[in-house]
Amino acid sequence: MPTQIGTTVDFNETKVIFSSTDLAGQQESDLRWRLIQALQTTLEMETLFNIFFEQVQSQVSFDGFSYRLDLLDIDLHVGKQSLHSCSYRLITQQDYLGELTFYRSKRFPERELIVLEGLLNVIVFPLRNAIRYRDAVTAALADPLTGAGNRIALNNTLQREIELAKRYAQSMAVLMVDLDKFKDINDTFGHSCGDQVLKKMVKKIKEEIRGSDVIFRYGGEEFVVLLTNTDLNTATYIAERLRICVANLGLQQNGETVPTSVSIGLSILHPEDSVNRLLERADFAMYSAKNDGRNQVKVCTETAAADG
Ligand code: GH3
Ligand code: MG
Ligand code: MG
Repeated sequence: MPTQIGTTVDFNETKVIFSSTDLAGQQESDLRWRLIQALQTTLEMETLFNIFFEQVQSQVSFDGFSYRLDLLDIDLHVGKQSLHSCSYRLITQQDYLGELTFYRSKRFPERELIVLEGLLNVIVFPLRNAIRYRDAVTAALADPLTGAGNRIALNNTLQREIELAKRYAQSMAVLMVDLDKFKDINDTFGHSCGDQVLKKMVKKIKEEIRGSDVIFRYGGEEFVVLLTNTDLNTATYIAERLRICVANLGLQQNGETVPTSVSIGLSILHPEDSVNRLLERADFAMYSAKNDGRNQVKVCTETAAADG
């Protein structure tokens, strides 16, 4: 029978449970001290957990773990999710710090749970700092209205992905996605309805693309979708799917459906491309889609862009 143990750990009310007397013997005390030192060395959440799990394995072995914090969209999984699990919802007076679950194929005996819980006490403040750091970094790189990446994130990510794609000889595509007649939507339905369109469109596009693909806000109603490791045929197919998805957005305002569509320009990475060059070709193709009547996908061929 699999066992699932669930506990809420309120770090304001557990001072007694987690006092050092609960850690049986010198070994645990030493480990606790080493952990405190090691966890202070990083603000990166993944590194923090790696340090924690490496050190803790000497006292409590497990096959894997997961960590969830819905508020920041964090869902980390490491190792195997075996039959038995124990979960901890971590809370302090100010913050909910997420849920940590440990997995293994054997039951967790009471003694190991006590050790584990004692060591969790050590991770709580480094984890809180890591969450705040991640929150700040994410906010600095995101568009506040839609949650899409901002221009800084676009430049950084494109630069890195172009280098990786060239090094590993992988294909890569970008889509320039511009809402059609968006000014008319604002004028007819109001600016806040326009905002809702932008938000809903980004949400839908995120649902349609893979986890490794990213959407960025390029300007007002213009977005860039980065499709890594994607060739021309697949990118064309995805672009067409996104076009249909926006045409069927179906946002309602005062009993009316707000008509939405996008013009999409597609470009594929060439060996000599810079960030700007790749985006320019996608932009060129997007304007060609506008000129041909909107609500369509156009692919930029090198020669067409050069001539334009
Ligand atoms: P086209 O099909 O040629 O792209 O026409 P368009 O109306 O979409 O393009 P235009 O550049 O004329 O207008 C873009 C509009 O997008 C004007 C601007 O007010 C609106 N816009 C830009 N950012 C936002 C925003 O954050 N919220 C809202 N509601 N509107 C925005
Ligand atoms: Mg537009
Ligand atoms: Mg535009």
